Amino acid sequence: MVINMDKIRDILNNSKKIAIAGHVRPDGDCIGSSTALYQYLSLYKKELGIEQVDIYLEPYGDQFQLLSGLEGIKCSCAGNEVYDMFIALDCGSKDRLGVVSEIFDLAKTTVNIDHHISNTMFATINHVAEASSTSEIIYTLIDDDKITKEIATSLYVGIIHDTGVFKHPNTTSRTMTIAGKLIDKGIDYSKLINDTFYAKTYKQNLIIGRCLMESILVLDGKVIVSSISQKMMDFYDVTTADLDGVVEKLRVTKGVEVAMFVYETNPSEYKVSMRSTGKVNVSKIAVYFGGGGHVQAAGCTIHGRLNDAINNLTLHIEAQLKEINEV
Ligand code: AMP
Ligand code: MN
Ligand code: MN
Repeated sequence: MVINMDKIRDILNNSKKIAIAGHVRPDGDCIGSSTALYQYLSLYKKELGIEQVDIYLEPYGDQFQLLSGLEGIKCSCAGNEVYDMFIALDCGSKDRLGVVSEIFDLAKTTVNIDHHISNTMFATINHVAEASSTSEIIYTLIDDDKITKEIATSLYVGIIHDTGVFKHPNTTSRTMTIAGKLIDKGIDYSKLINDTFYAKTYKQNLIIGRCLMESILVLDGKVIVSSISQKMMDFYDVTTADLDGVVEKLRVTKGVEVAMFVYETNPSEYKVSMRSTGKVNVSKIAVYFGGGGHVQAAGCTIHGRLNDAINNLTLHIEAQLKEINEV
């Protein structure tokens, strides 16, 4: 069922015990929307008739420590708690919930609040809307006068991360209006942008530099590819959470239509991040390989050999570029 409810109270429908979770390897929008909703439900618990609200998130980058609502996080481990309602946020498909999908299955009602075009509508109630971010959707579900400075901080961080600080074309005038309303709550927006989006540790800068140095251009310079092995991550003492900024740097290379960044997550298992100027629909390619995302930003996980993964993905990009006579 696709619904068009405009208030969270309707969605909650008197549920007493609620769980909130985001996707695996949480990004800014996932953390922002989850902590915002968690804070809202915790703060207005009584009024909403809620007895218990839990938040599940996998480990996240240190830059997000400044958000409120993180203190309540339960480890993303398999459990057998039965919730009246399980709300999945920023999750295009059930498998993206990771191990908590087991708790999702046990819940009496499931809700999916998201903005990915590849969303598989996997819950009982699916609120999937066209928006810059899940955080933007959460804003539209809550009355403005109920949004505290702390909730506004979470939502603002979510929006800046998915819009690349208001530069991606998913930024609309509504996004900017909402951002303005959040600024009116007294948030330290400049610090939030600098500290959660732009700030990099020395190690993160080194790994970005290394990935740029080792990048290659293929398909007449229309595609840029870079990859990093687990061994190299160990060498620089970084984890996958430190690789956030790499694809963003690859993406801005002049003449490039698609940037592809591949990193090893387990032996013979690679996470692929793709970014496109819009001519190539990278979500379509990611979906083909079992992942998903948006037209201009998508990802998937591929098993096998690194070179095969890159070759196969490149073939799909080439096919789309040929369709529009770009190669
Ligand atoms: P990333 O490249 O990981 O930054 O992801 C880009 C976009 O694609 C984000 O909106 C992700 O939520 C989405 N995405 C990444 N990996 C997957 C996947 N395996 N399945 C579905 N969506 C994904
Ligand atoms: Mn996300
Ligand atoms: Mn998102």
